[in-house]
Amino acid sequence: MSLPEFKLLRPRKLNEAVEYLSQHGSNLRVLAGGTDLIPSMRQKLFEPQYVLDLRYVAELKGIRPQSANACEIGVLTTLAAIEHSDFLRKHYPVLTEAAATVASPVLRNMGTIGGNICLDTRCLWYNQSLTWRKGCGFCIKKDGDLCHVAPGGTKCWAAFSGDTPPALLCLDAEIEVVSASGPRRIALRDFYTGMGDNYCKLGRNELVTRIFLPAASAGRRGVYRKLRIRGSIDYPLAGVAVALRRLNGHVSDMRLALTAVNPAPVLVKGASQLLENKILDDELAEAVGVLAAKTAKPLTTSALTPEYRREMIRVFTKRAVLAAGRQ
Ligand SMILES: Cc1cc2nc3c(=O)[nH]c(=O)nc-3n(C[C@H](O)[C@H](O)[C@H](O)COP(=O)(O)OP(=O)(O)OC[C@H]3O[C@@H](n4cnc5c(N)ncnc54)[C@H](O)[C@@H]3O)c2cc1C
Ligand code: SF4
Repeated sequence: MSLPEFKLLRPRKLNEAVEYLSQHGSNLRVLAGGTDLIPSMRQKLFEPQYVLDLRYVAELKGIRPQSANACEIGVLTTLAAIEHSDFLRKHYPVLTEAAATVASPVLRNMGTIGGNICLDTRCLWYNQSLTWRKGCGFCIKKDGDLCHVAPGGTKCWAAFSGDTPPALLCLDAEIEVVSASGPRRIALRDFYTGMGDNYCKLGRNELVTRIFLPAASAGRRGVYRKLRIRGSIDYPLAGVAVALRRLNGHVSDMRLALTAVNPAPVLVKGASQLLENKILDDELAEAVGVLAAKTAKPLTTSALTPEYRREMIRVFTKRAVLAAGRQ
């Protein structure tokens, strides 16, 4: 599959990138590592006139520890750099664990944390070649007006399938978004819309630049568990991130987030209240698993059945909570 024609823009500074965005934003795609964008362009899911290649903007790279073990991460930091960061492994283990499960080592060397946060949602009816989509029928997410997964509905249910955003949600991460009108900072939990088509709140002239991990999240124990068909390379078909503290044997400050089973990565509401100040046991972990399974809304967007994916959310949540509690 060939790439469509486009003009490549290669800024060296953030302000140049922002300038390009304000000039061409309506017909432009941002390229970071390109591991998702390029295959999608080959499938003609995106045919932008301009591609803004961020890879030479050095100021967008790097893991920068701040006071009290808070941390700032540039969006162009590769997933491999996150996976191998001693600082992040020590203070934010759920993030390094999630990063280490993305795709394969080669893709983690190229793929960035910013690309993972802004990753397009996925569906069996969408991530296909143009010929396939023409033959089987276009849908709401691209070029059509119906949904093959939920016929009769008007909503796209394509699943958000990035591994690091649920870990970042468990760390109460914030992100910086920049445009010609300046920077704005938002909580990651407010970044996603919950719709499969317009899945994040990013204007066409905006760029994500930094991720902030607050000091208050440093030191939470963390575990990430992921369901996929093969042990490597595959996107998650269900994913569970857990972060918590243990004080005198009691759980506190617990966060639980899911990926790949909804159109957005989601925090499970009520999970921390179930465990706060309790001594973790099998029964409590099971109750959290049941709650997580109720939050998951998988549909037939991937190769595994929704029933199996929801059940695996329950099982993985229970295992992840017990594993985090034992660390
Ligand atoms: C075979 C294969 C397996 C994969 N498996 C997994 C997996 O298991 N888990 C997983 O999470 N991902 C997986 N991926 C997807 C991808 O490799 C990762 O999500 C990666 O982190 C994407 O980062 P990137 O820098 O390559 O993004 P790109 O491909 O460059 O960009 C991805 C999207 O984000 C936008 N974007 C990128 N950076 C910014 C920014 N700073 N501001 C605004 N928009 C931006 C781009 O315009 C594009 O729409 C897989 C990909 C392949 C090809
Ligand atoms: S969920 Fe429906 S609208 Fe969305 S990509 Fe899949 S088939 Fe298309």
